[in-house]
Amino acid sequence: MIQTSESLNQLVDHLMQRFENIREPALRHRLISHSDLIPLIRRLEGIDDFRIEEIGKSVEDRPIYRISIGSGPIPVMMWSQMHGDEPTATMALFDLFRCLTLRGSIFEELSQLLLKNLTLHIIPMVNPDGAERFQRRNALGIDLNRDALALQSPESQILMNQARKLKPKFGFNLHDQMRYYTPGTTPYPAALTFLAPPVDHSGIIPQNRRYAMQVISGLNGYLSRHLKDRIGSYKDEFEARAFGDQFQKMGISTILIESGGYENDSEKLIPRKWNLASYLHALSSIAGHVYKNESLDGYYNLRENQRRYFDLVIRNATIQHHDTEIQADIGINRNEKLDPHRRRLIHHAVIEDIGDLNGFYGYEEIDAKGFAVYPGKVYIPEESFDALPPVANLLKKGYTNIYLNHEPDSFKEKWRPLNICDSISDTSETSLAINEPANLHFFDGHTTRMVVINGMVVDPDSVAV
Ligand SMILES: [Zn+2]
Repeated sequence: MIQTSESLNQLVDHLMQRFENIREPALRHRLISHSDLIPLIRRLEGIDDFRIEEIGKSVEDRPIYRISIGSGPIPVMMWSQMHGDEPTATMALFDLFRCLTLRGSIFEELSQLLLKNLTLHIIPMVNPDGAERFQRRNALGIDLNRDALALQSPESQILMNQARKLKPKFGFNLHDQMRYYTPGTTPYPAALTFLAPPVDHSGIIPQNRRYAMQVISGLNGYLSRHLKDRIGSYKDEFEARAFGDQFQKMGISTILIESGGYENDSEKLIPRKWNLASYLHALSSIAGHVYKNESLDGYYNLRENQRRYFDLVIRNATIQHHDTEIQADIGINRNEKLDPHRRRLIHHAVIEDIGDLNGFYGYEEIDAKGFAVYPGKVYIPEESFDALPPVANLLKKGYTNIYLNHEPDSFKEKWRPLNICDSISDTSETSLAINEPANLHFFDGHTTRMVVINGMVVDPDSVAV
């Protein structure tokens, strides 16, 4: 039996050393759809302690499932992906399912602890229609996390009905957040962010909210040994229309977990891993009543997130604006969107900031000292394609885009990494300004030394002629 925070931390460490074996191998990419989950849910059906129930359907008739596990006296509800483009926790929940089915003494110790003391009710992917489109909102265009009062969407009704029916003691509200936040002014992205949402505007802390804070306090104590300076807190502002705030108000000890970012981790494997660790830690703490001995210090030590990250920061650029020349940094983000034809995530990079970015950071940074930075140029071929210059030569002349109309995809491929403009309306000159596409070239007075194409840095010398 887990009795102290030290023995709890040890149990979770022992489990997490086996993460590579635990994690669900069928979920490797963040672009998961409802149909990816069905076989995984079906597979759980025959397993002892697992009970699967269809609890309703989305706007577009996709069934929403609840997986209930264990038979303990403390009901706990966990739900993920009420925002369709926030899949990390869904993946981590399937890691949790696998963790509870693995054999071996450490896993059996965990199952014993959790399933005898808790009844887990887990609803992965509350918004399957949004997940299909990789968008935040549901098929009605509603943000489910602003629908907890109005309850106009079937998905919101399902979630509220479950909370009313199951009367969970604890609730885990699982989200992703943009990868551009840092805990306070630390120079690292927040990998995980926590909040025990408030119950009104007054800041009072009823007992159920205090319990949620104590669980988070223990979590921070554990996680900070692994994710030092990468754990943040969400802003503590009451939002009556949000589920977390409503559930807290209804007396459910509600814990918000947001998966953020980490360097060189486009599939968010690291936030996913520490999400699982958070579930294991928090659930074990609740099962063993360990959280009741936690002070609130670990909660109040969390630093509130600030938006201080970009995907790419260009430092010390010389920028011409008509007759004026300035020195400035440029912050660029690669915004993700779904390519519905090929069902893959692509990005559209835009200039988010220009100016002094001291105290701000980039997942990737380059120094443009000594370079004049200009918007990329669009190459419009005049005659036969046979006469086109090599890509490297175009890059060295500052071109980042090429207009190729009515050409087969195979032909277009040879012009990568240039942006391909399909229609003449895409070929208008861009400018180096906020919200403009991130296509730039770096001129040293003689030649273009570097280009940024759709937010990606390209060295023209590295491109085959
Ligand atoms: Zn969200």
